[in-house]
Amino acid sequence: MTDHKITIAIDGFSSTGKSTVAKQLAKELSYVYVDTGAMYRAITLYAMRKKYITKDSFDEESLIKDLPSLLLKFVFEASRGFAAIYLNEENIEDEIRTMQVSQYVSRISALSEVREKLVSQQQQMGLEKGVVMDGRDIGTVVFPKAELKIFMTATAEERAGRRFKEMKEQGQAVNYEEVLKNVTDRDHLDTTREDSPLMKAEDAIEIDNSSLSLDEQFNTLLNIANDVIAKHN
Ligand code: C5P
Repeated sequence: MTDHKITIAIDGFSSTGKSTVAKQLAKELSYVYVDTGAMYRAITLYAMRKKYITKDSFDEESLIKDLPSLLLKFVFEASRGFAAIYLNEENIEDEIRTMQVSQYVSRISALSEVREKLVSQQQQMGLEKGVVMDGRDIGTVVFPKAELKIFMTATAEERAGRRFKEMKEQGQAVNYEEVLKNVTDRDHLDTTREDSPLMKAEDAIEIDNSSLSLDEQFNTLLNIANDVIAKHN
């Protein structure tokens, strides 16, 4: 049997558990996992630190000017079991997961200049195939020819509940209503933006995981992936 690697694109709404299953799949298939949301979050953290974005202002021009100097990379960390994101040599994996970053990220990701930079880096990372990439526009814009496209959904309440539990476990001070609002706000901004809105690619397989356990979800996806890989070998 030849070992022809494919590209797996996983898109979907916020907190659908895309990254959990994408990481599991990548590990099982010995593929590279790329969390594109982390890249948008990294640019957001930078804009927040520079005060380019605040509750009532957004200095898009300054951020766009700085974009060429922002170097993003992923470095595998054995203790986490996946690659952490670095911004200009600083590991910011934990800092990008805060509620504040979540509140600003959809405004940052709506900027075409930001998308252009990140999409081109993502396409470079997937050149050799053998990647599982998760995000909002992977099957539609980044890899429209991906051999396997998955579109994940779940009810907003289910997603907010999972996210809330995860953040509490990390010791973050959040309340459920705030998380639910963030999830629905991001759904709205991500699906209505002009550049690369979140949508299901025509040839994507939709999976509603509202009532699936993590194991069921993983096994469903692994079976689908193995079928597609077999077809391409
Ligand atoms: O996946 P995650 O929830 O970390 O993504 C954070 C935000 O980054 C999304 O709400 C969206 O605004 C943006 N994003 C995007 N395109 C991607 C990945 C993430 O616009 N491919």
